[in-house]
Amino acid sequence: MTTSTTTERAADQRVQVRRGPGGPLVAETEMPPLGHFVDGAFDTAGPASAPLVDPSDERQVALLPQADTTVLDRAVDAAAAAFTTWGATTPRERAELLLAIADRIDAEADLLGRLEALDTGKPPSVTADDVSSAADVFRFSAGAARSLTGLGTADYVADHTSLVLREPVGVVGVIVPWNYPLLMAAWKIAPILAVGDTAVVKPAELTPLSLLKRAELTADIVPAGVLNIVLGRGREVGAAMSSHPGVDLIALTGSVGSGRAVASAAAESLKRVHLELGGKAPVLVFEDADLEATAEGLRSASFWNSGQECGAATRVLVHEDVAERFVEHLVEQVRQIPVGTPDAGEDIEVGPLISRTHRERVLAFIDRAQQDGARVAVGGSALPGPGFFVEPTVLVDVQEGTEAAREEVFGPVITVETFADEDEAVRRANDVVYGLAASVWTRDAARSLDVPRRLDFGTVWVNSHLVLASELPWGGFKGSGYGRDLSIHALEDFSRTKHVQINHGR
Ligand code: NAD
Repeated sequence: MTTSTTTERAADQRVQVRRGPGGPLVAETEMPPLGHFVDGAFDTAGPASAPLVDPSDERQVALLPQADTTVLDRAVDAAAAAFTTWGATTPRERAELLLAIADRIDAEADLLGRLEALDTGKPPSVTADDVSSAADVFRFSAGAARSLTGLGTADYVADHTSLVLREPVGVVGVIVPWNYPLLMAAWKIAPILAVGDTAVVKPAELTPLSLLKRAELTADIVPAGVLNIVLGRGREVGAAMSSHPGVDLIALTGSVGSGRAVASAAAESLKRVHLELGGKAPVLVFEDADLEATAEGLRSASFWNSGQECGAATRVLVHEDVAERFVEHLVEQVRQIPVGTPDAGEDIEVGPLISRTHRERVLAFIDRAQQDGARVAVGGSALPGPGFFVEPTVLVDVQEGTEAAREEVFGPVITVETFADEDEAVRRANDVVYGLAASVWTRDAARSLDVPRRLDFGTVWVNSHLVLASELPWGGFKGSGYGRDLSIHALEDFSRTKHVQINHGR
């Protein structure tokens, strides 16, 4: 029997941030060297000015240097020099090296996971998945390197034999975001090395630790210059990489704005551009869907990585006849989500947001959504610090055309809109600048085949969301960019074809 008043019950129902014992996640001796990694060696000289902050307790973790043009030039030169030998290796040699990297990542999974947690505040379930998926993409790329072929050799013109060769591109510049620092870098580095390119990688300024550690852990495996890391801000170092004449292809995972900046900086040298940008994934819940299963599926697909996920299931469009019942199920699921620090337990599902600035951005978005007529069904506020925590939130009554229905939040927030029929659902789902991912929830077999074809997104799931595999391509349409990560298509994107034709007429 309970004696609590309604007000007390409401207060009890508020999410509490669970906190662990609070000791250091990573010992001083386990930290990577805090500097650039160029030509097989760390360069920790120079003033360290960029602070790294643990988002779950707001403590400063480290100070890092910023690359200047001299460091970037050295890294590009080292990558170009290494390309002359790495680009000439056989697929088998490259595959063996990639498998050795994967083994090393697996062997050091615990440490890499804790470094990732220190930089990002991710819970153990997310870091474990990030690290094992990073190893897996190296294993996949090792196999793919050995099976990538060009068009068959043939005489397409009488007396002329044609060969279509697949070649590496050269030096690839890679710019990585903070939401999956190790994994997004792996999605690029693995196919890049697999096809024989060399790389200069710039991690996000907020989250370089796991990539630096990975470079340290594999320094005895990867030949000097094949993989280089430069630290620094996007608008300076990232921009300089994008326009650098020694970089043959520039690959960015990041926001739409950064994609635009990179593409225009790359235009002068006409280097190739590979872009994986933001998303605002619509989730179409039809009247015949299993509503409980859908709500359960969204608990994970929307709040994974605290919603800081480009493919997150953030924008629900639900048929008006079932909207009320569906929202009840969804709110029930969201209320149960455990929020906490990385050391608070294996069952934590949502951690802090990456920074104070980003939390302010997410909270301001929730405020503006309410000004536009949305209602908070659960959550909606910051949680007491230290740490940049926001309650898992569901916003309902979101109106078509408002910011909440159109713009990426990149936080633990689901918005809910209603629709009257299938055509309206498809039209509104497509009416965003993004085109990364979407999902359809239905038990109607014809609809499950037909609606995905009408959706303008690079990945469409049916009765599922955010399920990825190294064998399958990941990438968007429209404002979400045009690169493909994962799968054999990533190896194609980071290589080039050359037609050689031999006249053997006599
Ligand atoms: P961001 O664009 O601010 O930063 C990403 C990277 O780009 C960082 O390393 C940053 O330093 C660099 N950068 C910023 N401005 C630059 C410029 N002018 N020139 C060159 N580099 C620049 O993005 P973020 O906040 O780190 O990451 C979140 C964004 O990334 C979201 O929009 C998210 O959807 C997107 N994202 C997309 C995918 C995908 O696969 N499509 C995956 C993860 C994240």
